[in-house]
Amino acid sequence: MNNVKTIGILGGGQLGRMLSVAASRLGLKTHIYEPSANPPAAHVADAVTTASYEDVAALQAFAASVDVITYEFENIPTSALDVLEALRPIHPPRGALATSQDRLVEKAFLQGLGLQLAPFADVQNADELARAIAEIGTPAILKTRTMGYDGKGQARIMSPADADAALADMAGASSILEGFVNFSHEVSVIGARAADGAVSCFDPGENVHVNGILRTTTVPAKLTPSQRTDAVLIAARILNALDYVGVMGLELFVTPQGLIVNEIAPRVHNSGHWTQNGCAIDQFEQHIRAVAGWPLGDGSRHSDVMMENLIGDDMDKLPALAKTDAAIHLYGKSDVKAGRKMGHVNHIKKGA
Ligand code: AMP
Repeated sequence: MNNVKTIGILGGGQLGRMLSVAASRLGLKTHIYEPSANPPAAHVADAVTTASYEDVAALQAFAASVDVITYEFENIPTSALDVLEALRPIHPPRGALATSQDRLVEKAFLQGLGLQLAPFADVQNADELARAIAEIGTPAILKTRTMGYDGKGQARIMSPADADAALADMAGASSILEGFVNFSHEVSVIGARAADGAVSCFDPGENVHVNGILRTTTVPAKLTPSQRTDAVLIAARILNALDYVGVMGLELFVTPQGLIVNEIAPRVHNSGHWTQNGCAIDQFEQHIRAVAGWPLGDGSRHSDVMMENLIGDDMDKLPALAKTDAAIHLYGKSDVKAGRKMGHVNHIKKGA
């Protein structure tokens, strides 16, 4: 098809694993770069480099062994990206990564596109927090600008009296205060953009989080036809503005006043795992196609699906689940830990 034969993937977690499987189906090889030993993706990839993101020689050798580089998580050190980018193309682009790595930069970018967001303010210290609370009101959420995931690095402020404790939770990290959005439910759009600029979005999914961690995604989501169109158009607008190549996750809050953008993730996304059994071409293949310079595939939804994450002790449900029609996806993690994503199942609604 073209000259891309080997895809380098930064990060060896379950997303890297499922990307490797998708690449393999297309006859492509993957090389995983991951600091920790025996990551989930190593079981299915063609090559693995176990080295830190500060190891310049290892980064250079990794880049030399692949045709193009992608990633499965956002918090890759800039210095490592500088080394890699000098040698091989990185998709999605650095600009998308930089935007999503810092909540303040992300909000400013999204606001610049004219999208609806929760009110927000930059907070560096107690004075700025007091001012932000006076302006935005309570309830509100204080979030670290960088390195947050799965609800980590967040503190709720129900009244101004909670301000000191919330600031202490940030442990000195730069933060933003966000007004609390009174949403009826949360949805996400998994969108893809190819190198030629073609955009294709999967049907929006409805997400339920427990303790900040995604529990289930259900398709179709509860949305009116105009909300569904709006959700997809918002995703497309963001993809085009970032000159994006690959798959992106977009989280939205549904409110009576319309859709409010929560955040973007420049990678395949947990809320897109339903596509593995709900579409002919899933999010992982779509990402690999885009990164490898192929045309996007047909991501239209052929079934109703409920994706359920298996987190920690949920693995105890496996024997019972194995007796049902659910499609089981396990990540090959040896240790079960509380809060750890071990796998997921897709419950497919027959005859939908
Ligand atoms: P985040 O890490 O920003 O995706 O936040 C994790 C979860 O916290 C979201 O999926 C929401 O359920 C909740 N949340 C985050 N920000 C807000 C907000 N401004 N208003 C209400 N709920 C929020």
